[in-house]
Amino acid sequence: MTEHSTSQRRICVVGSANIDLTFRTSRFPEPGETITGRSLHQGMGGKGANQAVVAARLGAQVSFVARVGNDSFGTQAIEAYQADGIDTSFIRRSENQPTGTAAILVDDHAENCIVVVAGANAELSSEDIVAASTVIESSNVLLCQLETPVEAATEAFRLARAANVLTVLTPAPAEHVTGELLNLCDVCVLNKTEIELLVDQSVNTEAEAVLAAELLRKRGVNRVALTLGSDGVVIQDEQGSMFIPATTVRAVDSTGAGDAFTGALAVSLASGLSLADAARRAGIVAAISVTRLGTQTSFPTVEEVADWNT
Ligand code: ATP
Repeated sequence: MTEHSTSQRRICVVGSANIDLTFRTSRFPEPGETITGRSLHQGMGGKGANQAVVAARLGAQVSFVARVGNDSFGTQAIEAYQADGIDTSFIRRSENQPTGTAAILVDDHAENCIVVVAGANAELSSEDIVAASTVIESSNVLLCQLETPVEAATEAFRLARAANVLTVLTPAPAEHVTGELLNLCDVCVLNKTEIELLVDQSVNTEAEAVLAAELLRKRGVNRVALTLGSDGVVIQDEQGSMFIPATTVRAVDSTGAGDAFTGALAVSLASGLSLADAARRAGIVAAISVTRLGTQTSFPTVEEVADWNT
């Protein structure tokens, strides 16, 4: 076994689980109008679920702490996570709310209009987190995002910090971030829009990216990975900043690239890699995902990522 053996990589993800319904239409309907769509595709989404699936496909032992409804979408979601080898024993079924669902309209110009109903995701509570405390405390890395209540993420980060578990945060939606959460955050992985909102500073150059990361670290975060789409990523820790260019690929669909990056980063950090090495590997995984259609369907398995285990 190498030092990066699978048995060492235990990751707990606390976050959202959604069903994505994508309707293809020639154009969007006007208010009051009914139009006939071309096709309907049902996929899996939610930032929490996406990150859990990426980490599981890369060989980590993943537990997902989440809420789904007591409905057929909830059953389908749980079965899909189990098929990826994810421990679903901490997913609770809400009685009064449906599984989170996104209705995505895509027209012939590839423009989209999206309505998301949080549903059961909004019921993820601090009690759910306490019920999962054993798995959180025995993980190498805890991953949270903010499509579920910030109180739940904060409780999870408190437990993780007390147990010396590395905390990784995707602060999306960024409006939900609190000072306490940033103070409990070891690694913050975010995109340009999110950091611009958090530090109130525009990011159009590498120098501005470095400055924004510095400002975020001043707010309590230890390390930052700022993703810049097809450009790559700027990482920053107490030792300094580094720009890591993206892998050049022919992109067909970048949906979920950020979650692919974050899930892969978490697996590499759990294996003991430095932030720079983890970000390099995560960039390769995210680049593969943008060459494929869909969100979770685009995430590679460990066998598909060259040299992952070296
Ligand atoms: P999304 O919201 O679409 O999931 P995001 O805005 O959170 O994505 P991005 O910064 O767009 O995240 O992308 C995350 C990482 O994915 C980038 O840092 C890069 O490593 C990789 N990536 C994204 N787009 C491309 C691309 N066109 N080619 C290669 N790599 C890409």
